[in-house]
Amino acid sequence: MIYLDYQATTPLAPEAREAMLRWLDGPDGSSFGNPHSPHRLGRQAEAAVEVARERVAALFPPGGRVIFTGSATEALNLALRGCAPAREGRTTAISAIEHSAVLDTALDLRGNTTILPVDRDGLIDPQVPLPDDVGLVSVMQVNNEIGTIQPTADIYARVKTAGALFVCDAVQAAGKVPIAEADLIAVSAHKFHGPKGIGALWVRGDVELRPLITGGGQEGGSRSGTLSPALCAGMGAAAKLALERMEEDAAHVAGLWCHALQLFGDWQLNGSAQARWKGNLNIRREGIDVARLMSDVRQAMFSAGSACASESGKPSRILGALGLTPEEARGSVRIGFGRYTTADELDAAAQMINHAAAQQG
Ligand code: PLP
Repeated sequence: MIYLDYQATTPLAPEAREAMLRWLDGPDGSSFGNPHSPHRLGRQAEAAVEVARERVAALFPPGGRVIFTGSATEALNLALRGCAPAREGRTTAISAIEHSAVLDTALDLRGNTTILPVDRDGLIDPQVPLPDDVGLVSVMQVNNEIGTIQPTADIYARVKTAGALFVCDAVQAAGKVPIAEADLIAVSAHKFHGPKGIGALWVRGDVELRPLITGGGQEGGSRSGTLSPALCAGMGAAAKLALERMEEDAAHVAGLWCHALQLFGDWQLNGSAQARWKGNLNIRREGIDVARLMSDVRQAMFSAGSACASESGKPSRILGALGLTPEEARGSVRIGFGRYTTADELDAAAQMINHAAAQQG
């Protein structure tokens, strides 16, 4: 099996697994404490959670606070719904290529939502007009389907001038590139070689947030519920490793990208080639039915779009936002690679994919 779907999820780093095991089962039974219990067992678990929090915090801009959540989807819900005091009665603006965790949540908020368009390269114009009464803007840093890197610094500056809040979905950026400045930032451990089932929301110091989940008052009252020390430790170890290896991983990915461009020379690239995370090769070829291609090439795991959208069978709304026709979108594949991918794996997968594509005409 060749895994080329790094945007859907990434393999757990051995270092993250190791960090988790201690909190799943201690040989003397001493590592199962509730991190919110005041006794010694609880305090040990709490110490592990706080070490993890510091490691995760190192991903973000200085200052602010890290709230652990069950996923980035939850973190984005907390960001968009939780800042109601600043946003209510004003318009929410999001880019046309946001993940459904942002789009569906924004559409569910009370009040108006404006969609900010992207160009043919999958990039938002930094000078895009914002609504006069804008209260919140959400623009992702790296897109999950096409890998384009948005000009979030320019947009954040304009959002601040407008007196609004800026939310950034940094799920596909975290651990790969330095995270953008924003007021609220969401990340997910399983996208940077950590475990599934844990994410985080970073919140700038002065932002007022209402909880979505109430109860025991954990996470400073922002997100009640007992934390899993194992998941926190795994996320913390993955964050530390990603920061330590950021340049090495990026250089490895850049090498694979150049190689992949040659292997798929007959295909056309979707989205900007420059403003892009290079571990995401989203390409199309005329007359291809990707659903058939995927069933023909069973040894290589790649994607027809985002993992969440691919079950619907509808052409990708992200590729549609770039102006691609439904046929072009249906003929597009996303090949995602990263830290543990080898050039040999790319060679083998390209041979299978190109062969199956040629069979289709
Ligand atoms: N945002 C982006 C850009 C994503 O790629 C994903 C996952 O696919 C999410 C949000 C949701 O993350 P999670 O799986 O942690 O809910």
